[in-house]
Amino acid sequence: MRTKQLTVLVFWTVQASALLVFFVPFAWPLVAMWAASHFLRAIGLTLAFHRHFAHRAFQMPRAARFVWAAIGTSAMQKGPLWWAGHHVNHHRFADRDGDPHSPWVSGVYYAHIGWFLNDARHDTLEASNPVIRDFSKFPEIAFLDRYFFIPPLGLALALYATGGLPWLVWGFCLPTVTLAHATFAINTVNHLFGSRRFETIDESRNNPVTAFFAVGEGWHNNHHRYQRAARNGFYWWEFDPTWYVIRAMAAVGLAWDVQPVPARLYAEARAVRARRRGQPVTSVTADAGPLGFDLAEDAEPS
Ligand SMILES: [Zn+2]
Ligand SMILES: [Zn+2]
Repeated sequence: MRTKQLTVLVFWTVQASALLVFFVPFAWPLVAMWAASHFLRAIGLTLAFHRHFAHRAFQMPRAARFVWAAIGTSAMQKGPLWWAGHHVNHHRFADRDGDPHSPWVSGVYYAHIGWFLNDARHDTLEASNPVIRDFSKFPEIAFLDRYFFIPPLGLALALYATGGLPWLVWGFCLPTVTLAHATFAINTVNHLFGSRRFETIDESRNNPVTAFFAVGEGWHNNHHRYQRAARNGFYWWEFDPTWYVIRAMAAVGLAWDVQPVPARLYAEARAVRARRRGQPVTSVTADAGPLGFDLAEDAEPS
């Protein structure tokens, strides 16, 4: 069987396996197990795959990076370099031809699932892709990327061996499916529904519902406006658990070079809000262009 057919088969088998939740006994500790598995692996994806590998929003020790990357890989969304490399292309071509998953370019189904399964159209990651170029030289990360099926398989087997079918279903099948859709929703829902604080050239939107299930990633219009920030929620009331974890790591010396939201972005947000209210705008920053191509090419991975 070819790799692509196997990928499609495994994907839909896992999707269908979430329905087993109706065939095993219900208990509240199992719901807690779903939550732990969903949200912890979500942090792995957002903290390591997204904010570190794709955007270099902060640095962390190699061992911590491996642990978070392994947790992210156990989410069954392929390898960290594959994931982050495609994500860089998403920002580069956001909602234009070349975007691997834009509902405006290729329709909602393809942007949500199709691109992940049948990724022939944009699956070639150039060696010059900044993620591939800089992180494939770390053997432990290259290993995770190549053998991406090991962490999810290991998690599933460990759960089954410990707690039988109920643990497998509530600790792996259901949360893997909910986390897949929470992640994919950033590509679809967040480019269709929500508010636009910044007038970016793409269709990105802020959405509190996706922010909750994708641990902070739902503040996607903020993020498209300024990719490098370690926080996607730009204000304290924008729930961003990934940011809280990064901040806690920084407090104990496990994260550094944490990229802030520049003051000019807050000024821009105030100016846009004032203009929409019809108030006179006293000062609009001259460099308030919508581009977000300021990828951290200069930041050397450690
Ligand atoms: Zn986006
Ligand atoms: Zn991003």
